[in-house]
Amino acid sequence: MTSDPIAQWLDPFRGLLDPNGRFAWSLLREFADDLDATLETCPVGPELPPGAERSRRLLRLRRELADRGHVDLTGAARLAPLVRLFRQFLCGYRDIDLRDSAGLGHGELIARHGSTECRRCWLPRLRAGDLAGIAITEAHGGSRPAATTTAAVPGPTNTLLVSGRKTWISRLTEAAVFVVFFRAPDDRLAAATVDAHRPELHRQLIQPAGLAGWSWGFLDLDQVPVRSADILHGDGMTLLREHFAGYRPLVAATALGAAAAVFDTVTDTLTARQSAGDLPRLRDSALVTLGRAHAQINTALLGAAIATNLADTRDPDAELWGAATKAHGVDTAHQAVAELALLLGAAGFRADSQTAKTGRDLSGLRYADGIHDNLYRAAGKRHTDTAPVPQPRTHSGNVPTAVRTELSRFACPARTAP
Ligand SMILES: Cc1cc2nc3c(=O)[nH]c(=O)nc-3n(C[C@H](O)[C@H](O)[C@H](O)COP(=O)(O)OP(=O)(O)OC[C@H]3O[C@@H](n4cnc5c(N)ncnc54)[C@H](O)[C@@H]3O)c2cc1C
Repeated sequence: MTSDPIAQWLDPFRGLLDPNGRFAWSLLREFADDLDATLETCPVGPELPPGAERSRRLLRLRRELADRGHVDLTGAARLAPLVRLFRQFLCGYRDIDLRDSAGLGHGELIARHGSTECRRCWLPRLRAGDLAGIAITEAHGGSRPAATTTAAVPGPTNTLLVSGRKTWISRLTEAAVFVVFFRAPDDRLAAATVDAHRPELHRQLIQPAGLAGWSWGFLDLDQVPVRSADILHGDGMTLLREHFAGYRPLVAATALGAAAAVFDTVTDTLTARQSAGDLPRLRDSALVTLGRAHAQINTALLGAAIATNLADTRDPDAELWGAATKAHGVDTAHQAVAELALLLGAAGFRADSQTAKTGRDLSGLRYADGIHDNLYRAAGKRHTDTAPVPQPRTHSGNVPTAVRTELSRFACPARTAP
């Protein structure tokens, strides 16, 4: 692979890392090299259609990256949340289907909130490359998890029996474990791990219009036994909010990485056509589109960087930033790709082109992990919230300290990292 997204896109962000992060930057380079080497041996180009072979390769890729130490992020890379964010950008740059190639993904919920037994059971498997799915959405609408109807009743020998239908679930056949949200007997929202091989689980596959790398559809739970050790610690709604505050910036970075790749394809194509004499000069309208898209992708990524730092420090504004920057990042990527794709002509409209696939996948990301009008609405609500803030704020005025600190580093970027 010839393109180098670190040099082309991420280098200006290096100054955002604190001194500990410089080491992590070299881990980012290592990740990029390992990702590309793995893709050489296990290609997942757009010509490989969705289906069993594609998901088998995506899982293999994740396992190979796990072997190289890129799934377990509890080590040095954990010190630098921005590096996790930029890994997602690199994954998205190669293909949005690689969004689950690094890190624990929804398995973070298990790592953070699982009982000792639960973590002992699942974390070694997830760190070796197994995949965790998440089952929240139901027919009444994923934007209203508080209205969850999947429910548990007391079962034999200290178990709960969970029944209900979860809709639009991704990683349906590939996940080794699902984190399932349900109503506990005391009516509170709770979450528990469910082994994906349980016979009480039934699946109905649906072909999605995008994000088809992992299988998708309905997950029916028919009296699935859940032990107390399987139940994640904490109130389900709090777990959801906290988890997605950290997860959504990663989704935005994946989307923006994919848009950056389309941007590079377009600039390469235009300059090649100009060099070959096909285009006597580049039209101003094309140059304006390029200039605007470049600025939009970078500023949306900066927003995601702020959100990821706030989530890492558990800032009270993290949820707001995670929601808004996911919606904004994916919308920005989606719009930029729609405009850039036209500059490729019909070649970019072939079903097997990476550009067309990226457009389809970005459409899917506008729903997955939070539908956008709902996310913007949640952010708007927070901005107009008159209730007292529960914890002492880490910032004055409207600009969180973490943001000001990060932005001030732009003035004097430390460019000496390896
Ligand atoms: C590719 C893909 C992968 C997904 N993967 C997963 C997964 O792994 N796990 C999972 O749990 N879910 C998953 N989802 C589901 C996703 O999280 C939901 O689609 C999303 O949360 C929105 O829920 P919904 O589709 O049910 O739409 P709804 O919640 O029904 O919302 C549809 C529209 O109705 C609007 N609306 C809501 N309430 C009102 C109201 N009172 N008045 C007027 N309008 C209203 C919303 O704002 C929105 O515009 C996935 C979805 C996709 C597309």
